[in-house]
This record gives sequence, structure tokens and C-alpha cells, in this order.
Amino acid sequence: MPELPEIWNLANEMDETLKEKRIAGLKVKQAKCLNIPQEEFEKLVVNKEIQEATPRGKWIFVKLHPGVIFLLNLGMGGEVLYFPEEKDLPEKFKLRMDFHDGSLLTINFWWFGYAHAVREEELSGHGMTSSLGISPLDDREYTLENFQKLLSGKKGGIKSFLMDQRNIAGIGNVYIHDILFRTGLHPNRKISSLKEDEVEKLFRAIKENLKQSADLGGLAYERNLFNQPGKFKDFLVRYREGKPCPVCGTTIQKIKTGSTSSYICPACQR
Ligand SMILES: [Zn+2]
Repeated sequence: MPELPEIWNLANEMDETLKEKRIAGLKVKQAKCLNIPQEEFEKLVVNKEIQEATPRGKWIFVKLHPGVIFLLNLGMGGEVLYFPEEKDLPEKFKLRMDFHDGSLLTINFWWFGYAHAVREEELSGHGMTSSLGISPLDDREYTLENFQKLLSGKKGGIKSFLMDQRNIAGIGNVYIHDILFRTGLHPNRKISSLKEDEVEKLFRAIKENLKQSADLGGLAYERNLFNQPGKFKDFLVRYREGKPCPVCGTTIQKIKTGSTSSYICPACQR
């Protein structure tokens, strides 16, 4: 599942590669991934020029000129692939976007995904993206002060708080386990019980963990815009139940936490 590191890289690659390209046409194979009828969607998008692509949690915002935002979310996984010409295209894709210079994108969702288009002035009314929280890879908004503010007065467990995209955008079931492990926090730990130094440690672990993966091109089973796999695969506790903790040697456990599973070292995480 692509989370912030993968989306961060993909959005940046799209920004560099697609800038100033004008959309010539669309081919939609899965109309239910659109937010509006296909005809309307095409009217909004076709003949618009790509200005910039930016990551926001698990979403990519593509600004089209004039006045439209194309919003992309790969859901459980998928590929956005760039081709300089119509050659060696994949068989499977849900959406194809052709540019005037002959280059094109294919977008595939493994399970489901979203390709939405909204007018710029209507972006704040787009329910799925309007309440996204702060981005841990954006130094301007991800500051210790903002993070402390976000946590202050909150009830409930730390894991569900971090996975809620309205608080912090981009952490899901891939990276959460190692982030909590690095901080020494049990996933069920109550936010109200966190000490100041634990909050600071968590603040740093989130950023370091996501940045480490982003710098390696994201997860080894995800692909970038040019169909290259990422290089991040060495998790500390995730999917390592039954194996020794890399810090203390205690056997890593897989436990139920709410509706999801968690991988923890029962000795290191309190
Ligand atoms: Zn341990």
C-alpha cells in the first residue's frame, strides 16, 4: 500500500516530468474511480496544461491550468507510469492520459483508487481531501510545536491517532509499526499518558522513518513513475513476528489492536 514516502516520490517525479504538458485525451476503463460523469470529467481535464504535482498524505494533487485540480489516490496500491511514446504499454490500466507531445501516463489500481477532478474554487469542498492533516515530510508544517499542539488534549490510543489522516497525512499500516517501535510505544498507549520526551521522540521517529524510505525510493514492492521498484524493505518489527527484536532479542509478537494487527516487541514497547 503506498503511503507518504511512495506518494512523495511519485508526486515529485510527476512534477518534474509532466510540467507544461497539455492533456490531449483520456481513456477511462473504470468510470467508478471518477468523482463525476466521464463526459464532465473530460471537459474539465482535456486541453488543460499541467502546472505542478504535489503530495498530500496518500493523495497527489495535480494543478491544471486553467483552474482545475486533478486528484489521484492509489488506494491499496497501483502504478502511475510514464511513457515518452506509445510503446511497451502495460496491458492493465484503469485510466490513460495522453499528452499533446505524444507522451502518456497509464494509471492502474490493484483494487480501487480515485481519479477526481474539481474546479480550483471547489477544492475545499472535496470531502476526501479537505480535512487532510499535516505532512511529516514538509518541514514548514511538520514542526515539534505543531505536533505537540496536535496531540494536546487528545484522548484515545496513539496508533489510531497516527493512522487518522485528519491528524497526520500519509501514515498507514506499512510504516506505523516501526515508528511506534522506534519510539518505544505500545500501539494502545493512551495519548494522555505520553511524557514530553516521548512526544519528541515520536515526532522525530515519524519523520526519520518516512524519510529513510523516501530517500530509498519507497517500498521495494511499489514502482515509481518510470516503473522502477523502491529499495526500502528492511523493517524492524513489521511482518517479523516470531523473530528476535533487533534491539533486545525478545520475540516479536503480532497482536490485535482494535480492527487491525500490530507488530511489537513486548519488552521495548510500553
Ligand atoms: Zn525489544
